[in-house]
Amino acid sequence: MTRPLRAVIDLAALRHNYRQAAQCAPQAKLLAVLKANAYGHGAVACAHALADNAPAFGVACIEEALALRESGIRRPIALLEGLFDLEELLLIEREQLWPVLNQVWQVDAILNMRPQAPITVWLKLDSGMHRLGLSPEAFLVQWRRLAACPHVTGVHLVTHFATADGDTEHEQHYYHRQRQCAEHVASRLRQEGHVVPTCLANSPATLSGLAAGQWHRPGVMLYGVDPRIKQSPSHVLKPVMTLESRLIAIRDIAAGESVGYGGRYVAPHTMRIGVVACGYGDGYDRHAREGTPVLVDGELAQVVGRVSMDMLTVDLSQVPAPSLESRVVLWGDNLPIETVAAHCETISYTLMTGVAQRVPRIYIDAQDP
Ligand SMILES: *Cc1c(COP(=O)(O)O)cnc(C)c1O
Repeated sequence: MTRPLRAVIDLAALRHNYRQAAQCAPQAKLLAVLKANAYGHGAVACAHALADNAPAFGVACIEEALALRESGIRRPIALLEGLFDLEELLLIEREQLWPVLNQVWQVDAILNMRPQAPITVWLKLDSGMHRLGLSPEAFLVQWRRLAACPHVTGVHLVTHFATADGDTEHEQHYYHRQRQCAEHVASRLRQEGHVVPTCLANSPATLSGLAAGQWHRPGVMLYGVDPRIKQSPSHVLKPVMTLESRLIAIRDIAAGESVGYGGRYVAPHTMRIGVVACGYGDGYDRHAREGTPVLVDGELAQVVGRVSMDMLTVDLSQVPAPSLESRVVLWGDNLPIETVAAHCETISYTLMTGVAQRVPRIYIDAQDP
């Protein structure tokens, strides 16, 4: 017997979600974003599951790209956070990676290379997110330098939206302002005769069907989450990860007795409590409120008391016949991660990426329909 906690990863669901993203943007190619270990799902397994579908992948940094290369992935891989030092250039050339340049020194470094074959680079425009990227004026200057360089090829305009997930008037307005900024910069370059392919959309912009461009960069939607605020959990996307465990103890607690650290929860009446092998040391959020849903044998149970490092406790009142064989679902299958995230006052992204290394990933796959 081993500790029963595991993250079951459904690779057929991943491909299903990829096809949904492709349907949202039939004109575009998709850069499947696999950063942060594929949002906690395991980047190597996810890349291989998508290798026949996705024309390219996106990661944050070169270490993540090299792990994919070592596993045999040959598709182009974009480095979304650019490069961090000059030593990366040799590897970028050798492994045919696509850095998304966001600083002038990075453009200089590319121009100073003497590569055997042309290097593909993308260039990041700050259209209003004000995180990474060049201002429109600086962008134009650096674009022209890259375009004039004989050993640079395939330059794309990349920008990132700050509010594509929002639905307030302000957020929508800001989104359109950013799009207009990108279109304005692209059209100025086109007037000068440049070919300007673009890559604008993340998951929310892809799902909204608003963004144009030659490439889209969906991340979280591939894993089954619609990140748009006020959107109820998607019926079109399928959850890829199910975090599941077992009860390891069942206790009857007398009225007035407390459960767990700090005695935060006090039983109002005699209560049956289940102890689940899963805690914050596994990535379950310690901020989970009283009442955060958990499924025990498919029935709704609720977190009571504080989450510990290796365990959490649930109220079993609504579960007819709990036993030490009972399957516990923390999120995924029939329990949307969005719902759990809301009870933790966080977002699905943090829960997924936070699943600890000690939690084994179990991969299941089925033939595509
Ligand atoms: C993470 C990331 C994405 C994917 O975002 P999602 O909201 O997960 O779709 C796209 N582009 C960049 C630059 C990113 O860092």
